[in-house]
Amino acid sequence: MENKKPFHLTRSAVHELARDYGTPLLVVSLSEIERNYMILRRHLPRVHVHYAIKANPDPRILERMIAMGSGFDVASDGEIMLLHRMGVESDRMVYANPVKRREGLAACRFTGVKYMTFDNESEIGKIAAVVPDARVLLRLRIDNRKAHVDLNKKFGCGADQALDLMHKAKDAGLDVAGIAFHVGSQTTLADPFLTALDITRDLFDQAAAEGLPLYILDIGGGMPIPEHKVKFNLEEILDQINARLDEDFPDTEIWSEPGRYICGSAVNLITSVIGVTERNNTPWYYLDEGLYGTFSGILFDQWDFKLETFKTGPRIKATFAGPSCDSLDIMFRDRRTQPLEMGDLLLVPACGAYTSASATTFNGFPKAKSIVWEDVEEEYGTEPGTDAAAG
Ligand SMILES: *Cc1c(COP(=O)(O)O)cnc(C)c1O
Repeated sequence: MENKKPFHLTRSAVHELARDYGTPLLVVSLSEIERNYMILRRHLPRVHVHYAIKANPDPRILERMIAMGSGFDVASDGEIMLLHRMGVESDRMVYANPVKRREGLAACRFTGVKYMTFDNESEIGKIAAVVPDARVLLRLRIDNRKAHVDLNKKFGCGADQALDLMHKAKDAGLDVAGIAFHVGSQTTLADPFLTALDITRDLFDQAAAEGLPLYILDIGGGMPIPEHKVKFNLEEILDQINARLDEDFPDTEIWSEPGRYICGSAVNLITSVIGVTERNNTPWYYLDEGLYGTFSGILFDQWDFKLETFKTGPRIKATFAGPSCDSLDIMFRDRRTQPLEMGDLLLVPACGAYTSASATTFNGFPKAKSIVWEDVEEEYGTEPGTDAAAG
């Protein structure tokens, strides 16, 4: 058992940080990033981690992941060039977008990135024309209706097409290296991973029999972070995956592409109540962070954020809206909360994945500033135990 409590600011730290830095404020714990990475390394010792940077491309997080020796899952020329400028060697990146822009392939040619995924025939010619020595992984579709965000609706070829596509890639001169899948984001069970491993083991056998010896298996992302009302045991899930990998893929190089798991628990948001009113007998609280900012994860990631209020006593149902002038900018309706007043602070833990990454500056509101907790911990750190009341 890791017995790890996710990164969580104390009440006094929240109030002092808000006083000194203003709100909305994102507080990023790089030690938490490191702990999350180490848990994966410990439970999946053979697996090369490729952090999916779309979940949170904060340069300080990237620097820490680079320093720890992680690889990276990239999806665009922008992400490839960002890491290239930070000194990441090309063989630490996998271009895991099965449908690539011409500019993305040009960035591969420029930087030397060779590992990439594909899931359709039209991609093979595109890759062969620009990166003829590419090492390609076939992206397989894994049906998983239980996934929080099911990426298999958009990507992946069916197992029945896999061999045909791999032969076509080989015929185009590409090095067919292996198979990649993504069981879906925030997968809280081992089963979808184990099912995917069964399917890929069959495909590895068939491919070998047909003269296509595969040597890389990429089990994708999807590892879960603690979530409101959802119970699971991460270590157990990882240990089950690891046992199956040892049994079925003892000689294969194994990769994974965690995004949410690395960064999700590592950021806390502090936001303030900047307006209070009542409509149809329901209290409305306007916050200084909204759907166009960090809470964009509600729309793009269908995430249900937890709000902590630092208040005690009976709860009411209220509506929470953001600061912009758009009526779409409403985060929560009928959300149970202690009654709030102007100037009250709210803490939103586990705010690191698919949050600031998709924030905008709509309506002239700047993105929330962010600071690194370990840079200020000595000044603001207090004894744990003064945690907020759960909202
Ligand atoms: C988004 C994405 C990931 C990361 O997924 P998480 O659920 O955040 O772990 C990994 N691989 C690919 C190809 C992705 O598109």
